Amino acid sequence: MTIETASAAETSAPETHAFEADVARLLHMMVHSVYSDKTVFLRELISNAADACEKLRYEALSAPELLGDETRLAIAITLDPDAKTLTIEDNGIGMTAEDMGEALGTIARSGTKAFMDRIAASSGSDGAQLIGQFGVGFYSAFMVASKVDVISRRAGADIASLWSSDGLGTYTIADVPTADAPARGTRVVLHLLDDATTYTDRFTVERLIKDQSGHVPVPITLREKPD
Ligand code: ADP
Ligand code: MG
Repeated sequence: MTIETASAAETSAPETHAFEADVARLLHMMVHSVYSDKTVFLRELISNAADACEKLRYEALSAPELLGDETRLAIAITLDPDAKTLTIEDNGIGMTAEDMGEALGTIARSGTKAFMDRIAASSGSDGAQLIGQFGVGFYSAFMVASKVDVISRRAGADIASLWSSDGLGTYTIADVPTADAPARGTRVVLHLLDDATTYTDRFTVERLIKDQSGHVPVPITLREKPD
């Protein structure tokens, strides 16, 4: 992959990439999932946001400038019933365009790899049950979303990038103006499927956070738009 340097105000033309074969298979399963407990997506995205904050905390031990003025690490979830979006943002370590291609285009995660091995070893229909057992990470977003945008700015970087996919085989990566990105960290925007708009309901999401993510060591705020 080529990463072009762009000034902070520039937007590059999106480059299209194909998912690694295993990811494409996994995504097909997510998109066509009959698995009833789709709620796991929120747990997975919150856990990634919290991991990103932990990674920043760790890196900042030897490079305190990465924290800068924004020393309060946090996760913010925004629900927009009109736009049918659920957005989860963290001010953790963030990702470069290159990080995104690796982390969100391949099976980087050993748990997901184990899941795929189990699927390969079992008859196809077992996939639905296995999703819950393994917790399949980021890609579970495609159980509830027809499109996922990830806008990220790596701590210390002066450019921001946008990863975008409908989960159907390809994703794009482009540079975006830093004004459209978090000052540091990652914003994941789920464009919810019509049968998943319940995840713009404040009470539904609040309950899920309490039930699934009560132990997360980073404060989580929830707000509804317009507030
Ligand atoms: P895992 O969390 O087990 O590694 P995931 O599928 O949940 O697997 O996520 C894949 C990778 O994507 C993570 O390891 C991380 O590198 C990257 N990632 C996902 N979400 C974020 C985020 N909010 N901030 C930074 N990196 C992220
Ligand atoms: Mg994860």
